[in-house]
Formats: sequence, C-alpha cells, structure tokens
Amino acid sequence: MFRSKFSYSDSKSSYSDLLEDIETGKIESIFFYPRQREIDVLYKNGDKFKIPILYNDQLILEKATENKVDLTVNNSRKEASAANSFASISLFLIFILAIVLILRSTSKLASRAFGFTKNQAKFVTIDDVETRFDDVAGVPEAAEELKEVITFLKEPKKFENLGAKVPKGVLLIGPPGTGKTLLAKAIAGESGVPFLSISASEFVELFVGVGASRVRDLFSKAKEKSPCIIFIDEIDSIGRQRGSGIGGGNDEREQTLNQLLTELDGFADNSGIIVLAATNRPDILDAALLRPGRFDRKIEVMLPDLDGRKKILSVHSLSKPLSSEVDLGYWASRTVGFSGADLANLMNESAIHCARDESKLISDIHIENALDKITIGLRSSLITSPNMKKIIAYNEVGRAIVCAVRNGIESVDKITILPRSGSIGGYTKICPDEDVISSGLISKKLLFSKIEIALAGRAAETIVFGEGEITQCSINDISYATNIVREMVTKYGFSIIGPISMDSDNEMYLGDGLFKRKPLIAENTSSRIDNEIINISKISLNNSIKILKKNRVLLDKLVDILLNQETIDKKLFKLTTSELLKV
Ligand code: ADP
Ligand code: MG
Repeated sequence: MFRSKFSYSDSKSSYSDLLEDIETGKIESIFFYPRQREIDVLYKNGDKFKIPILYNDQLILEKATENKVDLTVNNSRKEASAANSFASISLFLIFILAIVLILRSTSKLASRAFGFTKNQAKFVTIDDVETRFDDVAGVPEAAEELKEVITFLKEPKKFENLGAKVPKGVLLIGPPGTGKTLLAKAIAGESGVPFLSISASEFVELFVGVGASRVRDLFSKAKEKSPCIIFIDEIDSIGRQRGSGIGGGNDEREQTLNQLLTELDGFADNSGIIVLAATNRPDILDAALLRPGRFDRKIEVMLPDLDGRKKILSVHSLSKPLSSEVDLGYWASRTVGFSGADLANLMNESAIHCARDESKLISDIHIENALDKITIGLRSSLITSPNMKKIIAYNEVGRAIVCAVRNGIESVDKITILPRSGSIGGYTKICPDEDVISSGLISKKLLFSKIEIALAGRAAETIVFGEGEITQCSINDISYATNIVREMVTKYGFSIIGPISMDSDNEMYLGDGLFKRKPLIAENTSSRIDNEIINISKISLNNSIKILKKNRVLLDKLVDILLNQETIDKKLFKLTTSELLKV
C-alpha cells in the first residue's frame, strides 16, 4: 500500500532478467525500501515491476551503480510511522469505545440499583381488581369492619362532624391462608379509591437505606392520590420488635420501620389515606407500631367455623361442576381446622382428580381422594408384607380406639393402612375439636388424651405381640408425645413441679434467641423435670394399654376389617364401634 505510486504491469520479471536488464541499460530507476525484500523497478519503456530480492542485496546495488541506474531509497519509516500512529489511534479509539461501553453498562446497573429506591408499589385501580367481598366467605365480622373502612374514606365528613378521628392504620391479623390478602383485594375492588399495594419484604433490599426511602416514596405517592388505601402485606418482615437483633440486615429493617412510623405520624388526621397491613405474627410486631394513632385498629381474621367452611367451599365450587350428591355441609364437617386456602386447595384438587378420571362432574369420591391427598399424602406403590401390614393395622386401630374412648367415636375420621409416600405405614385421621380450634385454649385433659393417643400404637403392639416383639413403627408418635409432655411440664405448668415456665425456645428469631438468657434451672430441678417427663409418659402408655386391654375384642375385629378393606371410614368405624366400645 505504501508503494501505491506505482502501477505495476502484469508481466513478471525475474531476478536474473533484472540483472540482465540492468546491464543492457533497459532500467530507468530502482526504488529500494529499507528492510524490505522487494524493489520496484521502472523500465525505460515505462513498465513497472516489483521484484523480490535477497535481504540486503548487494549485487543489485553494485550492478545498478556500475550501469548508472538511478537509485532511490524510499524512507518508508515515515509511512510506517504514519501507519503506526494510525494503528495506535485506532487502538486508542477502541479503548475509549470500550470504556464508554463499560461506563454505560455500569451506569445502567447503578441507575437500576438506585432505582430500587423508587418504590415498586403496584398502583391498582378499581378496574384492575376483580375481587369483591362476595368472594371472601366465612369471615363476616372482618368483612363488616373493612366495609366500614371504605365509609371512612368515602364519607369522612360523617365522622369529622362528630369530632371522631378516622383510623390511620388497620391491621389484619390471622393464621396463614385465612383470606387477609384476599380481603385487602376485595377492599381494592369495592372501595372505588386508588389502592397502593406492596409486600413488606419489598422494602428490604440489598442496599442499606433503600427500605426507608421506599417507604417515603410510597407515602408521597399516596398523598398525591388521596383519598386512597396503602396495603402493606406481611408487615411482620419489617415490623418486628426493634433492638433485639444483630447484623446489618437488622439495622436496615429498623431504619425502614422507623421511617414507616414517622410517615404514619406524619400525615394529618383525616387526610384520606388509610394504611392497611396484614400479618400472621402480631405477637412479634413492634409495640410502637401498635399504639393508637398508628395501627390502632386490629381486625382478626379467624379460621372459619363449620358454617364458614361451607360457604368458602361453595365459593370455590362456583366455577366447578359438582355432582348433585355432593353435600358441602358434610365436607365442611370433615375439614375442621382448615383455612380458606386449604379449602380452596381441596376443591381444586377435587377438580384435578375428576379430570384425571375423565368424568364430567366432581363427586364425593373425588373430594375424598383430594382430602386424603392433602391430609395423609399421596398413595405410594410400596408393597408391604402381610406381617408388616398386621403390625401397622394394630398400631392404627389402637390409636383409633383410644381416641374414641377419650374424645368420642365421632372424632375418628378415617383409618387406613394403604401405604403413603413419606410415612412408614398407615394413618389414623382424627378430627380436631372445633372448640379447641376456635378458642385456642389447651386443657390438661386434652394434652393427656393426645399423649395417650400417640402412645396407643405402642400399647397395642405390647398387648398383641408382647413386650419383646415391639417394633419402632410408632417412632414418630413417641417423639410427638415426648414433646407434648415436655411442654406440659416446662411451659404450661401442668405437672407436680408447679406453675413455672422453664421454656427457653420461644421467640427464636434471628438474633433474638442469641441474647436471651437461658432460664436458670438448678440441676436438681432439671432432673426432676426429666423424671416427671418420664413418669407422665409411662403413666400415659399404661393408660392406653388399659383401654386397649378392655377393648381387645373390638381391637381384633377392627384390625380384621382393616386388613381386608385397607380403609375404615368414619361411618364404618362408628357402626362397628358404637356397640362394642368399652369406655
Ligand atoms: P392470607 O390470609 O395468608 O393472606 P390469602 O388471602 O392469600 O391468605 O388466601 C389465599 C387463598 O385462599 C385465596 O386466594 C383464596 O382463594 C383462598 N381463601 C382464603 N380465605 C378465604 C375466604 N375466607 N373465602 C374464600 N376464599 C378464601
Ligand atoms: Mg397473605
């Protein structure tokens, strides 16, 4: 490229031709390029050739000077250096380009990172939400109270005229799956005011300080939209008691919570903003959050009762084709302790079972299978030997009989020895007591009966097969029983040791438990506790043995049926037991 001033002729000329041509005087001039093994040759007739020569060729030089050929040494350095500088300039440009690209992408990253601070609250308008209060069944009190919240927003004058302050914060409290989020959605759907929803966990991010600024953002957005509702789901993830943890993450949480408290205080009364929050851990919330003027209204969303369960079941079967034989009231009675989410899941599983059967209508069998799947687990194809089956059957029937004696025949829902994945053998499904679930009160009698039922499998094996032949079939029940006994002694004060709490494992939340001092227990007391635990366990096992000995005939009969049919349902159990059971 550097010799572009020549336009070369196509005909070739060789080295020997060249030497000859020099001697015969055909050459006008020769151009040398230092450090190159080529020369350009200009003939007198105007031809131009490029001819390869040896490096540092002396022969051509000599001959050329002899024959007075014009010699030119081209300084290609200039050209080379031009080329060099061109190369370095382009390298430099590439470098700059790369830097620009890197800077750009990092700035994008950075802006994304700092964009975290912009709150990502979903802004929902009424048209977006299809949920209505009709979709939330079985929690009439909570729904009523929430409807009142809508009135606060829509007709604040009504309350202001009476000098009443509209509550700023409403806290929905209740076990998981009872419909708290659903209620909030229903409010969004019904209220006709803007609805800002965010999950509290979204406040807490990688960067310290983000949470707090998000809270600020959320509230400033809300002020623009007022009247409106802010909904913070799972508020316990930021609202936990402060000052009890360790580590940076915790500081971040505290900052976020402080900001939330500030914002709650910051907006004026009757400003048209109501903060709705939901949690299933009200016990761990910071007291400051709960004081009047902040979340002063608490609405409890409880597990549904019999009637509530029936309503929820019917809400969730609206879009599903139920066979006419299905009585939702019956299924409500079989699902004590189920939450709304569990019931929704039950109806969904039933529909899936129905589809699997390729039938058009959901019938009792599908619901029964779905219930089994949810409570007992999937059926496994494990094959059990007849001998093992017998042991499992005695374990299960033993439990069912002690349960019938202690809690009534009605409390046994189902006995099965069909192998299920994840369990050794069978399963005895016991209906929890509706009262206990709704009141949450645990009596000493209840705990004793639980322990006896749990140990009844071991009791049955002892009676039937003898002390030396017992198996570890009831291993899970024994550990369950031991845990209850320990709680009785160390937590509830249900033993001769007295009403003393020596429970050290409550509130084992991040950091919390680390600083909590272990309760001081004298060695002497500690061994008394152990003795008491052993004592109660032994007494309970003996009680179960006594009950089963008394009911040996029934025990054998039920085991026979179970080995034949593999499952005894509530009806059959009642039928077989009601005459023979000796209490
Ligand atoms: P949480 O109380 O944990 O926030 P959700 O509101 O998220 O519970 O409920 C989960 C799902 O369970 C809902 O989407 C709904 O399908 C069902 N569900 C729960 N409670 C009810 C209820 N009271 N009525 C109807 N469906 C319910
Ligand atoms: Mg929820």
